[in-house]
Amino acid sequence: MSLAPRSYTEFTSRLHDRLGRKRVPIDVSIEVTRRCPLECAHCYNNLPMADPVARREELTLAQHVRILDELADAGTMWLLYTGGEIFARADFLDIYRHAKAKGLIVTLFTNGTLVTERIADVLAEWRPFSVEVTLYGRTRETYERLTGIPGSYDRCLAGVRRLVDRGLSVSLKTVAVTLNRHEVEDMKRFARDELGLEFKFDAMMTPRLDCGKSPLEVRLRPEDIVELDLLDEDRVREWAEQAALFIRPQHLPGHENDVYHCGGGNNGLSIDPYGGMTICNFSMRDVYDLKRGTVADGWGRFLRDVRARQITRVTKCTACQLKSLCGMCPANAELETGDAETPVDFLCEVAHLRALALGWRVPEHGTCEFCPGGPRHAAMAGAAARLGERVAAIRAGARRPARVALPVLAAPSGAGCGSGCGSCGTRDEARW
Ligand code: SF4
Ligand code: SF4
Repeated sequence: MSLAPRSYTEFTSRLHDRLGRKRVPIDVSIEVTRRCPLECAHCYNNLPMADPVARREELTLAQHVRILDELADAGTMWLLYTGGEIFARADFLDIYRHAKAKGLIVTLFTNGTLVTERIADVLAEWRPFSVEVTLYGRTRETYERLTGIPGSYDRCLAGVRRLVDRGLSVSLKTVAVTLNRHEVEDMKRFARDELGLEFKFDAMMTPRLDCGKSPLEVRLRPEDIVELDLLDEDRVREWAEQAALFIRPQHLPGHENDVYHCGGGNNGLSIDPYGGMTICNFSMRDVYDLKRGTVADGWGRFLRDVRARQITRVTKCTACQLKSLCGMCPANAELETGDAETPVDFLCEVAHLRALALGWRVPEHGTCEFCPGGPRHAAMAGAAARLGERVAAIRAGARRPARVALPVLAAPSGAGCGSGCGSCGTRDEARW
């Protein structure tokens, strides 16, 4: 008899393991809109608030209600609402209340800037499982340099306080990029010590869904990302827990040649603002149109076939046991390289450097330039040594590098990235 799970993470991990073989869409993420009042330098999908095409094409309230009914029938348990900014839709609370009425366990991602007293009151009545608010800086200057919108810092903090004052389950998080990395620790202190909230950060930026490369202009270097890990004792402990759970063979027996190794299409799916059902938020190539079809058909037939896709070649990722921890997946590979099976150099370097810095053993996984004997291993070992010195110096009180100048952001490419996803308009038969 197995022991009772020791944590919520372990409980959900075991449930996913059990249900994974039954193929039930228990985890669903819905982007309600890509419109947003902010213009973050790193953003992968935002559109202006008044974007006329988005407003015209977004799912209606009635379509959301119908899809929620179908998801509940299909066995969905956890639902994430994300954006853009979810409260950019005036009818979001109506959508949300229906999800709650269906008994779904709902998490909300928001930047907090549009959270009014009325919104906070409704959330206090129809309580979400959690609300994750992204904070982009500890100071007004840094926050607004990243978001590009004067006044947004104060609006964010006011929104956070409204949620906290109602006793909701709120946590803060940030994206660590070149513009705000010097304030990550202050943001954590602010969240934990002043507000009593959990805090986490993520530094893994991808190109934009429309193929623009602007997020990469502010992406941290692998060394900087691992430095942030090492400076944070909680994060080091969390990585150790993740490593213990997830450095293991990635495929179930018989599934060694599957392209997908995550929960997407197996026990999870995503829905974009226009009714496109995909394996995940970042995957734009295979899209089922829920305006014309049903969750049952999209899940039971379309995503089943996407999920069953087989690899065309063996790469260093095929047997790599770091895959769950490095972020390498077909969707990220499509966004970054235009090909679902091409390893993403940046992700690979971060994963191997983190492994070296945290003392993980990386099981052999074919010809890999970052592994011992590979042409880039020595340079990476040098980076790890420099990192150790930098972290020691920072702990001893040396000043952190100051903020860097805001780069000129690249315009979205009109030529497409070669992935064939069609989100940039270079291919118009993106939906079936
Ligand atoms: S708040 Fe979120 S959706 Fe809006 S611009 Fe920033 S990252 Fe993008
Ligand atoms: S990118 Fe590198 S670390 Fe990540 S799965 Fe592939 S080989 Fe492993």
